[in-house]
Amino acid sequence: EKALDIQGLEKTYAGGVKALKGINLQVEQGDFFALLGPNGAGKSTTIGIICSLVNKSSGTISVFGNDSVTQEVAAKSCIGLVPQEFNFNQFETLLQIVVNQAGYYGVPRKIAKIRAEKYLKQLELWDKRNANARELSGGMKRRLMIARALMHEPKMLILDEPTAGVDIEVRRSMWAFLKDINQQGVTIILTTHYLEEAEMLCRNIAIIDNGVIVENTSMKTLLSTL
Ligand code: ADP
Ligand code: ADP
Repeated sequence: EKALDIQGLEKTYAGGVKALKGINLQVEQGDFFALLGPNGAGKSTTIGIICSLVNKSSGTISVFGNDSVTQEVAAKSCIGLVPQEFNFNQFETLLQIVVNQAGYYGVPRKIAKIRAEKYLKQLELWDKRNANARELSGGMKRRLMIARALMHEPKMLILDEPTAGVDIEVRRSMWAFLKDINQQGVTIILTTHYLEEAEMLCRNIAIIDNGVIVENTSMKTLLSTL
């Protein structure tokens, strides 16, 4: 069974903007997959629909074999989402943020604390665990978002422009962390408008432009045709 299978997905927003014009997308389990495209192409809309945060207009979508009926439940349990915006409470500490997120997913508190330590350490945030989130740099906030998304140990991690505004050193350490998570078996999908990032990380890639998938191939094949 595929990690993700999208067929004929369309999205027209209330104002009439056709953000997705019938896209097909398959992602195998264990893949590291890039959705590459310019601003406004439809990347965030696609992710929002996969996570059941945005309603689709038509088409089918299946997450680890769960069809539309159970997809919302599946999205909550199987997917860790790292959205673009910093949507955590800036006045909570890092520990509070990640442990509360675990609670939201029904992870017992004892396990939540163990995972909080593991992921905050791996993401080089443990020293800051009792600081308020608003005191963090942009790169630290991005890493906090990743730690938070892993607290229920999802089978799939989806990241929307994870390294936007992050300097090159921090970006490299984030890339290494993501590769490691992927090697442990987590399927990763990330959006980027930046080919170098996809090239560094991803095995397969789809290029989206103006709501249409214009290319869907292995990274290797894409690079050999450039
Ligand atoms: P990307 O993530 O690739 O930048 P988006 O999925 O955010 O693209 O946007 C795709 C298109 O849908 C754009 O034209 C955008 O303006 C439009 N759009 C996105 N969100 C909304 C919304 N909530 N209401 C109306 N239009 C939207
Ligand atoms: P918000 O405060 O943004 O409304 P929620 O309380 O709904 O957020 O969820 C908190 C966080 O949980 C979200 O910011 C997101 O990272 C994650 N989340 C929410 N819904 C989903 C989902 N369907 N799949 C994966 N992660 C989700």
